[in-house]
Amino acid sequence: MRNDVRIERGMPLRSTELGLNGKADVVEFHKDESGCWIPFPVEYKRGKPKMDDCDKIQLCAQALCLEEMLNVKIPSGALFYGKTRHRFDVEFDDALCKETKDTAVRLHDFIDARKTPKPVYMAKCDSCSFFDICMPKAIGRKTSVVDYLKENLKFEICKGDIMTFDRFENVPVWQDGIKLTTEVFKLIEDKRFRFKGDIANQIQRAALSIPNNIAEGFERGTTQELIAFLYYARGSAGEVRSILAVIEQIPVFDDLKSEIFIYSNKKRSKKSLKKH
Ligand code: SF4
Repeated sequence: MRNDVRIERGMPLRSTELGLNGKADVVEFHKDESGCWIPFPVEYKRGKPKMDDCDKIQLCAQALCLEEMLNVKIPSGALFYGKTRHRFDVEFDDALCKETKDTAVRLHDFIDARKTPKPVYMAKCDSCSFFDICMPKAIGRKTSVVDYLKENLKFEICKGDIMTFDRFENVPVWQDGIKLTTEVFKLIEDKRFRFKGDIANQIQRAALSIPNNIAEGFERGTTQELIAFLYYARGSAGEVRSILAVIEQIPVFDDLKSEIFIYSNKKRSKKSLKKH
């Protein structure tokens, strides 16, 4: 604290009017000429200033929360960018306040409609902490499920032989997942797994989530969610392969090596998948 500035870090924020809550990186309280402490939110960003106003809107939302909580008028705040090590002031003028309130309304419209807006891939996505959840490259692209699978999951698509399915139980890759899971369950029945910690549980869970994710993605009913869940299934398949590679290295399982080799090299289904 300096004589004319107090600093509060990680201050909780909320606005019942806008339906927002969160936490401010820093709120400085500046003493004005009349001796009143006026909040001055400061938002820290790792990167550099962006072309659009998204950071200003986030900062203004913090100011609107503080105004409602503390019943004061907040004229400005500041953004600090780590890459340029530059801090600059932001005026909360009528246009920015309106845009911030409109953004909050749009956000609640999406929540009420239980709809997630489609991500649009931009350069800033590469440094976004939501990248793995949001998957803007995979989900944001205008591509059919068949094209996506052909490109990313290496399914083989034969011209004129594209199959369609109305039940996940008929999808070859789900059936392969079930076979693989059953074989993994048989493998871990071997009593030597009982003395090797959690490895049996882990491979069991990973194997089970392959067909389960394919089924869940299929039942969700949208291409976007099907793709997301196929990614999860692919991740689980990788987990199974990785655990099998570990088992292969453990001397006590030496005689299981041939079986592990078969599981690790299961052929992918050659049939394509297209959801009705
Ligand atoms: S990854 Fe998603 S949330 Fe992050 S910037 Fe890109 S679109 Fe926005």
